[in-house]
Amino acid sequence: MKVLVINSGSSSIKYQLLDMQTEAVLVSGLVERIGEAKGELTNKAFPGTDRQVVTKIEQPIPDHNTGMRLAIELITDPEKGVIKDRGEIDAVGHRVVHGGEEFHQPTIITAEVIRAIEATVPLAPLHNPANLDGIRVAVELFPGVPQVAVFDTAFHQTIPAHAYMYALPYALYATDRVRRYGFHGTSHKFVAGECAKLLGKPLDKCNLITVHLGNGCSMTAVEQGKSVDTSLGLTPLEGLVMGTRSGDVDPAVHAFLARNKGMGIEEIDTMLNKESGLKGLCGMNDMRDIHAAIAKGDVRAGLALDVQTYRNRKYIGAYMAVLGRVDAIVFTAGIGENDDIVRRESLKGLECLGVKIDAEANGQRAKEPLKISAADSTVAVWVIPTNEELAIARETKSVLN
Ligand code: AMP
Repeated sequence: MKVLVINSGSSSIKYQLLDMQTEAVLVSGLVERIGEAKGELTNKAFPGTDRQVVTKIEQPIPDHNTGMRLAIELITDPEKGVIKDRGEIDAVGHRVVHGGEEFHQPTIITAEVIRAIEATVPLAPLHNPANLDGIRVAVELFPGVPQVAVFDTAFHQTIPAHAYMYALPYALYATDRVRRYGFHGTSHKFVAGECAKLLGKPLDKCNLITVHLGNGCSMTAVEQGKSVDTSLGLTPLEGLVMGTRSGDVDPAVHAFLARNKGMGIEEIDTMLNKESGLKGLCGMNDMRDIHAAIAKGDVRAGLALDVQTYRNRKYIGAYMAVLGRVDAIVFTAGIGENDDIVRRESLKGLECLGVKIDAEANGQRAKEPLKISAADSTVAVWVIPTNEELAIARETKSVLN
């Protein structure tokens, strides 16, 4: 079975074609700057193998349809392609950011499902319309091929009301569904599943804290395999300190800025999402740049690292209290997988709760899962690379089976 995975953004499409017999990636690609004067497509056939062929195309790509057609031409190219024709694609899996309360699991896309995803647009105005563009294009390009929506929010639909409700007037929930939804669910679920395998236990017997630290950051408390709390909320802004997003702030900051600085809602929203987080604190949002700046004595870069890792530690402690017993803490995504300093600082002082890391193991670079806890740590600590495309392809396959 061959599954095409599509992650459609407002001006980009990421795609991968996977052979699900072996879970090998046949093609991975990125269409960028859709709708701009100069668009770009990078297509890698057999990525990461000695058969890798990279093709770059630069030309105007006015819309998602054109971008996806170009990608399909390359995938089926008689010389550089990996399949003969698009009929070899058995299913398409789509990343959809927000599934509201409607979607608890990956779902085969029908006209009714598209309408339900459209109904969640007010909850994710930046993401869901772009995801829907990808779905419409794929439905047109692959008529009759099953299409599956895999929601970032679905894994978190098991969170109980006491953890998903905000203490706001109840009517806001009843009428507008204002509540915590959580995001990065595909990643949290994937690394939780991989961790259970490494622990040699069924997932439904595992209590885990999964820590996704990339440009976006979130943490999930997983009890007996199910998400019971997560740090991102109604939108992907709450919780941890992210690349450009603030994470938790006093909600009264809106009123303060409006009254004292005359700022409007859009301006405040942009500030909290695009100009805050690590970038807001020190002007840089890439952790590699921040470490380089700290080495040169940049005090604010040091502050940004401290604010982020302190927040991580606070949430880990809170989720240990939520779970009671924790089998493992799992770090994943760009920072979580690569940054031993962030991992060390985020776990600092948690020895009293049974968390001890092995400094040497933590310092290793690994593409594979890596155990970084000390032999006498009661809680295991793992670094497990996330793979959202593979997770979407697996979910797509399992729904269709
Ligand atoms: P992601 O969103 O998972 O792709 O993660 C992207 C972020 O990971 C970047 O903005 C960097 O801050 C961080 N990152 C990537 N590689 C490294 C590395 N080798 N060391 C530290 N941070 C890294």
